Amino acid sequence: MDKKTKILLVDDDVNLRQMYAEIFKNSGFEVVEAGDGVEGLDKASKEAPDVIFTGIIMPRMDGFTMMEALKKTVMTASIPVVISSHMGREEDQQKANALGAKDFIVRDITRPIETVERIRALFIQEGGEYKLEFSADRMDAPKLAKDLSFNPTFNCLDCGTTISLNLKLINKKDRIFEAKFVCPKCGWEAK
Ligand SMILES: [Zn+2]
Repeated sequence: MDKKTKILLVDDDVNLRQMYAEIFKNSGFEVVEAGDGVEGLDKASKEAPDVIFTGIIMPRMDGFTMMEALKKTVMTASIPVVISSHMGREEDQQKANALGAKDFIVRDITRPIETVERIRALFIQEGGEYKLEFSADRMDAPKLAKDLSFNPTFNCLDCGTTISLNLKLINKKDRIFEAKFVCPKCGWEAK
């Protein structure tokens, strides 16, 4: 099984942080929490999270100052940061962009589950390939075999292994895939 994505939630509003912590946990993330930028920096280097979701205004150290500090250490410099903004002020958005934030989420207009989806999307790579098992007798499979002159059992013509459907993600925003039949064993591809 794949390792869980570890997210560091940085916010001084405990209720808000706990609400997000629960939603991210329920969505399969491992969650680490910090109450301000100082604690966030500390947890970022100790816990090496895959992503940081941080508020802006916090006591001791704000989210933007924390982002600048994260960049000064090799270990934390490349951790993607997503900003959690209360009001979505234009100047905050510009500052977030300038500091290389991966996303800028305005809490008042973004449902928490949508926030999870947007953060999850940061980890989907375009060009990523997925091999799927294919049922030779289900739905349009027999018609497909006939139309394309495939072996009706969907076995590889070269080695006899059951061929699989290969999906390649070509547009992650609209979730558009390119599909191809391939043999997982010998590499035969439908032309
Ligand atoms: Zn084969």
